Amino acid sequence: MKCFDIHVHIFPDKIAARTVEMLGSHAKIAPTYDGSRAGLVASMERAGLAGALNCPIATKKEQVVSINEWAAAQNRWPVLSLGTIHPDTPEPAAVLASLKARGLPGIKLHPEYQQFTPDDPRLWPIGRACRDLGLVLLLHAGEDIGFDPPYHSSPEGVRHLVEEHPGLKLVAAHFGGWRLWDEVDRRLVGQPVYLDVSFIFGMLPDARIVEMARRHGVERVVYGSDAPWRSQADDLRYFLSLPFTVEEQERILWRNAAGLLGFDAG
Ligand SMILES: [Zn+2]
Repeated sequence: MKCFDIHVHIFPDKIAARTVEMLGSHAKIAPTYDGSRAGLVASMERAGLAGALNCPIATKKEQVVSINEWAAAQNRWPVLSLGTIHPDTPEPAAVLASLKARGLPGIKLHPEYQQFTPDDPRLWPIGRACRDLGLVLLLHAGEDIGFDPPYHSSPEGVRHLVEEHPGLKLVAAHFGGWRLWDEVDRRLVGQPVYLDVSFIFGMLPDARIVEMARRHGVERVVYGSDAPWRSQADDLRYFLSLPFTVEEQERILWRNAAGLLGFDAG
């Protein structure tokens, strides 16, 4: 079975090791590779993953241009890459159009690193442009182990984004809201939003993962790990042990991501 990981992180070689060490010690998680592309590819080979999607984040608007240059160079199999934008980026529609022209499949936004709530009006032109250009918007959702509360995003906030931008290819990470899964159940399950399963195994009971995924619609659930903050090999094994049917596994591990990102759905 072909497997794709829609949520991973790599950094430019020069800063990779020191960046994952710093982020890891802050969040008290040991990284499972050194943060480099080569380290990720080796981890993917160990796990049996055919492809992965890098999700970079610009913490300041001044970083957007250089991160996007780097992301465009990284965007080649077996590692695809999203681009980045900041809520304060001037003329976001033009920046997003240029990402699209360079072949990047979308962007990642992070409410904590970028200090916004999902109902922030600064997101409206970003959401509109992503929808019009067919770009994926992958959003960190819920609490974040690297930050202290109060948190900026909630399933209610994500619901707001969904309703604000019909037709947007929105992916809410961590099953719609890390550690806020009761509220995900009430506000997001069944809505037209993709949920990734990154960083939830062992935190949400297995039976509940399967039950919520089915009620939401397995055609809108995508496999992700959040590596290097999880082991890709352990998480893929864990996912395959959940009581999904083979057809459901194929959708979640490959076909849904292929359709979203526009790579070969074979
Ligand atoms: Zn992540």
